Amino acid sequence: MRPESLFPLFKPVTALPGLGPRLGKLVERLAGPHAVDLLWHLPSGLVDRRFAPKIAAAPPGVIATLTVTVDAHQPPPRPKLPYKVLCSDETGFLHLVFFHARPDYLARLLPPGEVRLVSGRIERYGREIQMPHPDHVASPEAAADLPAVEPVYPLTTGLTPKALHKAILGALDLAPDLPEWHDPGLMGRESWPAWRDAVRAVHAPSDTADVAPTAIARRRLAYDELLANQLALALIRRQMKRAAGRSIRGDGRLRDRVLSTLPFALTASQRAADQEIAGDMAADGRMLRLLQGDVGSGKTVVALLAMLIAVEAGAQAALMAPTDLLARQHLATLAPLAEAAGVDLALLTGREKGRRRQATLDALADGSAALAVGTHALFQDDVAFRDLALTVIDEQHRFGVHQRLGLTAKGRAVDVLVTTATPIPRTLMLTAYGDMDVSRLTEKPPGRHPVDTRAMPVDRLDEVVAGLARALDGGARVYWVCPLVAESESLDVAAAEARHAHLAEVFGERVGLLHGRLKDRDKDAVMADFAAGRTSVLVATTVIEVGVDVPEATVMVIEHAERFGLAQLHQLRGRIGRGDRASTCLLLYAAPPTDTARRRLEILRETDDGFRIAEEDLKLRGAGELLGTRQSGLPGFRLADPAAHADLLEMARGDARLALDRDPDLEQPRGRALRVLLYLFERDAAVRFLRSG
Ligand code: ADP
Ligand code: MG
Repeated sequence: MRPESLFPLFKPVTALPGLGPRLGKLVERLAGPHAVDLLWHLPSGLVDRRFAPKIAAAPPGVIATLTVTVDAHQPPPRPKLPYKVLCSDETGFLHLVFFHARPDYLARLLPPGEVRLVSGRIERYGREIQMPHPDHVASPEAAADLPAVEPVYPLTTGLTPKALHKAILGALDLAPDLPEWHDPGLMGRESWPAWRDAVRAVHAPSDTADVAPTAIARRRLAYDELLANQLALALIRRQMKRAAGRSIRGDGRLRDRVLSTLPFALTASQRAADQEIAGDMAADGRMLRLLQGDVGSGKTVVALLAMLIAVEAGAQAALMAPTDLLARQHLATLAPLAEAAGVDLALLTGREKGRRRQATLDALADGSAALAVGTHALFQDDVAFRDLALTVIDEQHRFGVHQRLGLTAKGRAVDVLVTTATPIPRTLMLTAYGDMDVSRLTEKPPGRHPVDTRAMPVDRLDEVVAGLARALDGGARVYWVCPLVAESESLDVAAAEARHAHLAEVFGERVGLLHGRLKDRDKDAVMADFAAGRTSVLVATTVIEVGVDVPEATVMVIEHAERFGLAQLHQLRGRIGRGDRASTCLLLYAAPPTDTARRRLEILRETDDGFRIAEEDLKLRGAGELLGTRQSGLPGFRLADPAAHADLLEMARGDARLALDRDPDLEQPRGRALRVLLYLFERDAAVRFLRSG
């Protein structure tokens, strides 16, 4: 149970000052559902209002605070023109400019003849010096209330800086004093403030150094977060290892059948991974292994071989994919192989309903389906396996540790194999996966042609379309990817629809369209058409990023490639070059590209090595982007930043281990405080693994 001292911080954001249901929704999307999420919503910079020049000396483009006399109000002569308030000092005139003004409000705010302090951005419009929509207006008596320096927060459309700041101040008021969970020696060495002082400090920067990840208060909070994470992972691992494992050995009869059906031989790293996995499963302990390999490196076969070990031993295995689309695709890949082995394979996603679902549940419960493929629907409460021995989680960076926990509750001490195509650099491995064992597929299957990757400005679209026409005549199949613009899914869909319409004008019925707003059934149909060659151009949003496998596809066009992260571009490109024909990837960018964009496109042209790309991406963009999370920083982290806090990450790992060695169930005073820390960072699930948790 969450400690009472944290109750106020877990109130919904709508309990904060100024946030009704409408703004509450925006804040929730931006930061999260609870007051505590606003504490973690850190300033990205600050506005310094201390510059207080005379009007004539105020350069356009800067934020300034001016002391002026209000001369006259000038309502707009025509609608749509702005309302102006003329002001002056002894050096010149300043026009305050308001669009959609409320005149009575402005008359009260800026009474003619009075002196006012106005603070905002100076602009020049023709010969006028203007300040559009001042951020603050104050009378000279109230000058002290005018903030000298203000934090600037990432915003979202419809939410003003003022409303957000007010809510954050409200959240800060709810922050209680909490018992110190850090070791006093560490606190002294790092000169860290107490938790409550630290959150207050990060929201009250007084210069730019205070908003940097290296600021002392920020480091403390980052360490809090990293320690909570490492503790939770250590607890989960301990719990998993505690559950007595079992030794699962196959006799090879099913695996041999599948291997002889495959039209290829395993690569050396596939063989090595297979042996490591078989070794783990045969051992008495429980397997907790990550199978990491670039897109197209052949993880699926390795996963299937592992699953067949379970079946050979008389047990069951399940593969869980992050989306319906992927589950169905796995089914399509695995079904013929399972059939060759003579093993029944069941599918279970949220879309299997009614009688069909019941039949599947029965087959899993009586063991007649030895293999299952699905989404998290596989692990709902009413799903029972006769004897589940192995769970493969096709991660594709969609799940978190929490989901992983639920899965392992089915069956006795289930072995867990997580597959991921994200080439996670070592620094991030720890935070994302804790101490899992790792197998890596380091080579691509033979016979692959490297993808010919080219970048060109998007204004040469006509050339691209002409080139496509030639490729299509030669029988090519083409992905055309439209970017996600984060803010609005409907805009993304609109962009994809527009491109689809445009290409359909040129290529007619051969053009398909795939995006997240389609019904599942329609998505399947669109994919099936493309896979079967009934369409030969597939216009898509990034829904195709993960896993989609059409070996015949040889061309990929990525529009506005500059808007994608490197890793994402690499994942997308991995969708082609899977067959034995030469493939081409065209990266269309809006000219002129920024330096970062240019560098990213260069790296992609230079290399196809996912690990190198990941390292470069980390350098260029920070880890958030690398792992596809919306914020910069570590995946799922709000405060820690891998580049700035790498030292803290190592420390947190050692600290967590030591704390649990000394006080295994966190019952001593420091242990009690660490429990609060776990709750503060919503690692509630991990607390359950403590005695009297
Ligand atoms: P991943 O899941 O790692 O992205 P897949 O398992 O989907 O990759 O494999 C990509 C393609 O490569 C599939 O069509 C698969 O049949 C094929 N493949 C896998 N292993 C080999 C191999 N050793 N030799 C040739 N082709 C292979
Ligand atoms: Mg795969």
